[in-house]
Amino acid sequence: MSGPLKVQDHNELFEAPEFREQRARKREFEKPSSAEEVQRVLEWTRTWEYREKNFAREALTINPAKACQPLGAILAAIGFEGTLPFVHGSQGCVAYFRSHFARHFKEPFPAVSSSMTEDAAVFGGLNNLIEGLENARALYRPEMIAVSTTCMAEVIGDDLNAFIRNAREKGAVPRDYPVPFAHTPSFVGSHITGWDNMMKGILSYLAEGRKGEPNGRINLLTGFDTYVGDYREIKRLLTLFETDFTLLSDLSDVLDSPATGDYRPYVGGTPLEAAADAVNARATVALQRFSTTKTRQFMAEEWGQEVVGLPMPIGVRLTDRLLQEISRLTGRPVPAGLEAERGRLLDAMADSHAYLHGKRVALAGDPDVLLGLLSFLLELGAEPVHVVCTNGSEEFEREAGELLRSSPYGQEAKVWVGKDLWHLRSLVFTEPVDLLMGSSYLKYLAREADLPLVRVGFPIFDRHHLHRYPIIGYQGSLNLLVWTVNAVLEEMDRKAPAHSFDVIR
Ligand code: SF4
Repeated sequence: MSGPLKVQDHNELFEAPEFREQRARKREFEKPSSAEEVQRVLEWTRTWEYREKNFAREALTINPAKACQPLGAILAAIGFEGTLPFVHGSQGCVAYFRSHFARHFKEPFPAVSSSMTEDAAVFGGLNNLIEGLENARALYRPEMIAVSTTCMAEVIGDDLNAFIRNAREKGAVPRDYPVPFAHTPSFVGSHITGWDNMMKGILSYLAEGRKGEPNGRINLLTGFDTYVGDYREIKRLLTLFETDFTLLSDLSDVLDSPATGDYRPYVGGTPLEAAADAVNARATVALQRFSTTKTRQFMAEEWGQEVVGLPMPIGVRLTDRLLQEISRLTGRPVPAGLEAERGRLLDAMADSHAYLHGKRVALAGDPDVLLGLLSFLLELGAEPVHVVCTNGSEEFEREAGELLRSSPYGQEAKVWVGKDLWHLRSLVFTEPVDLLMGSSYLKYLAREADLPLVRVGFPIFDRHHLHRYPIIGYQGSLNLLVWTVNAVLEEMDRKAPAHSFDVIR
């Protein structure tokens, strides 16, 4: 007799007797060290002695807090209208990028590959690229195909410019069909470099020969930002200024489209015509600096445009700075409504101050996100202690260091560029903190060190919908404040003795 269907989650399912038995048998087969020995070594890995060995390692990275270049490239590309990201290289890489984004955004992420295999690795990937472009255009009917590369194509030295020209000559794509490209070798840089390279590739392609009359608009260069809410927030802010603008690029509708019952691969995105006309804008404001370096340089030097590179506008001071720049560039005052939002954020910060003041924080993430978070934490009176930035540069290290030294709350902090999450583990066990901030990958450390984790940055796989909220501007900072202070309060409740388990905090 069949009963109602019971869907078991992981926790329940793997506690069933058959799985327990399977685990026990596997363990017997592995002939592991004794539980005491495992515990002894575990304790040792939490000591200063182990920390020194851990920081002396050179030839091995364990859990880097970064992804590779083409992952960033396809995120930049997907924010343009009707655009299909195309990765020249192996299929497995693209499956990884798509699943990473699908897990973060909880949305399908269209991207294709030229499926290079062993023969292409030996003889070159020209035929794969030509066939791939022809098939992708015929099957998915995009308005533009943006090509980036994986390690494999880069190692054998495939030349995208020549290959795409070849594809046009063979009729695989029409001569005037847009196929911008960027070489994105993954053995240098990270996903933020890939975002930058692809953005520069797309803008330089679309704007070629389009320099003309000024259009009076402001370009906004988002940088590698995985918060759909941020794209909506920056559009809201610019709309309040009543100024015309172009977001480069705009993935808000692409990766957050309404459920209508039909799957549409291309929804929203920066119109290609607007992107081409970006060359005629009054100025460009970049909302991140480290993920937009080459694009900003290109716009300033090739387009002759005023380009303002700002730190990611998180917290009061950095949002003030963004709004002041927009006010200066547009000649319009900061709207009164935004001044009220600022006041409400300050009020909320004062309300939560008692719980955040002096809290020691360890953070890991991308340089632009970290700079924004650090600035906000210092405003809150929290004390950043360990700052791990796997894909940080010396310039980031210097900037973050200066920011931290400028505040009494940043005096203890140390910035670790090029280090990974296994280094962070040593830091947290030898110099303890109260709170962790970073991606879902920090949850293992949070559990082991018994610490609360504020999930921020990329990727966030294990909590839903956080990416729908902004983290920039006064509104976004308020969201961050809410998540942070409530993580602290949750922890207080969890550890409260009976006499202090209070209904009011
Ligand atoms: S690092 Fe190279 S091989 Fe690995 S996913 Fe990225 S492009 Fe592919």
